[in-house]
Amino acid sequence: QQDTKAIQALDSAHYLHPFTDHGDLATRGARVITRADNIYIWDSEGAKILDAMSGLWCVNAGYGRKELADAGYQQTMTLPFYNSFFQTTNVPAVQLATKLAQLAPEVRGRKFEHVFFSSSGSESNDTNVRMVRRYWDLLGQPQRKVIISRQNAYHGSTMAGASLGGMSGMHAQGDLPIPDIVHIGQPHFFENAQPGESQADFGLRAARWLEEKILSIGADKVAAFIAEPVQGAGGVIIPPATYWPEIQRIVDKHGILLISDEVICAFGRLGHWFAYEKFGIRPDLVTFAKGVTSGYIPLGGVMVGDRVAKVLIEKGGEFNHGYTYSGHPVACAVALANLELMEREKLVERVRDDTGPYLAERFEELRGHPLVGAAETCGFVAGLVLVKNKAKRQVFDESLAVGMRCRAHCFRNGLIMRAVGDRMIIAPPLVMTREQIDEMMDLIQRCLDATLEELRA
Ligand code: PLP
Repeated sequence: QQDTKAIQALDSAHYLHPFTDHGDLATRGARVITRADNIYIWDSEGAKILDAMSGLWCVNAGYGRKELADAGYQQTMTLPFYNSFFQTTNVPAVQLATKLAQLAPEVRGRKFEHVFFSSSGSESNDTNVRMVRRYWDLLGQPQRKVIISRQNAYHGSTMAGASLGGMSGMHAQGDLPIPDIVHIGQPHFFENAQPGESQADFGLRAARWLEEKILSIGADKVAAFIAEPVQGAGGVIIPPATYWPEIQRIVDKHGILLISDEVICAFGRLGHWFAYEKFGIRPDLVTFAKGVTSGYIPLGGVMVGDRVAKVLIEKGGEFNHGYTYSGHPVACAVALANLELMEREKLVERVRDDTGPYLAERFEELRGHPLVGAAETCGFVAGLVLVKNKAKRQVFDESLAVGMRCRAHCFRNGLIMRAVGDRMIIAPPLVMTREQIDEMMDLIQRCLDATLEELRA
């Protein structure tokens, strides 16, 4: 057993954590996670915790998969690194690019035969910004620079990623967004629908915010629209069925590129290899990361549709962009092993046809709980809205921090669930069985009850 106190002391003395209040951390001490297996993690005190967030939405194949460790070891011993700059390549990168091109379905004539690799979602979205600008430059329309995104979106933490994102807390630090990135509202029915408005009508109205924005800027200045098919870190915001078809109509009408940020949504998370398939979207660029390696090693990238690839390759000359670790052989070998494992165990089909619908069924039962104003699922992501009064759709005062209270109860009860304001969200490993869904639902129920009790006390 590790000496928790000693590690916590060194942690607060030396380690600057991402997205963490260090004052708070120094007082409480970080929870030290020491090992993991299947859907569970353990801390240094020996507590077993059900990880309903797959780490950070990434451990799709579950923890402890020896095949992935073996693939990494073998590749490290064969060729631990070589770059793909200056007309060199490596076998795992070529194999992974080929595999991804096979997995990415063609949609209404749009093919995805090319991949650009990075090591993260943030770097991939930076790549998108540069690629989109390069595309319009090559077509002789350099004035098309503006990228439209959505409030409350998360697209990463680099300057471009955080600017594309619509998190006001991030914009407030570092004078963001950078120029030529603007935001529209999100299709969040619970928060933004008008009284009596149907889901379908709201979906159309929310999509038309995009057209209003395009017209106010001038379509000839707009380069692209970027969005997550289901907004993840913003709180699992699942758009009404009318939303995406209308968005597609609008981008097509104005000739604007569409970027589908699938860092969370791809690789089975929504029951498909790529989420654009589920929503019938025809994107030009698709961002991925996380689930491609089940988080075992950093890898991200952009699936480049033929509309953009053709211009970049045929007219482009050299694209002055790339990362030391683009196409890293070890990361690519682990990704290949992960995708093969997911195919072998039919994890995507399982989520689509079996465990996903079962999770939805079990989540619906939570609507009966006095605290739950809405409970929504899409594949293996789900969100609950905690409310003061269900009938009046009245939310809690922010100062009560109800979501954080609920999260604390989850922690105490051996469950990782994330709080986004008063939305409680999950994204479990795709290996989760029906029995484990039941186990998770019992824990969620217990934590909701404990939160309610605390609020009533
Ligand atoms: N895009 C989306 C939709 C994400 O959810 C994330 C991370 O959560 C990112 C981009 C950034 O990815 P990374 O943290 O790998 O840079």
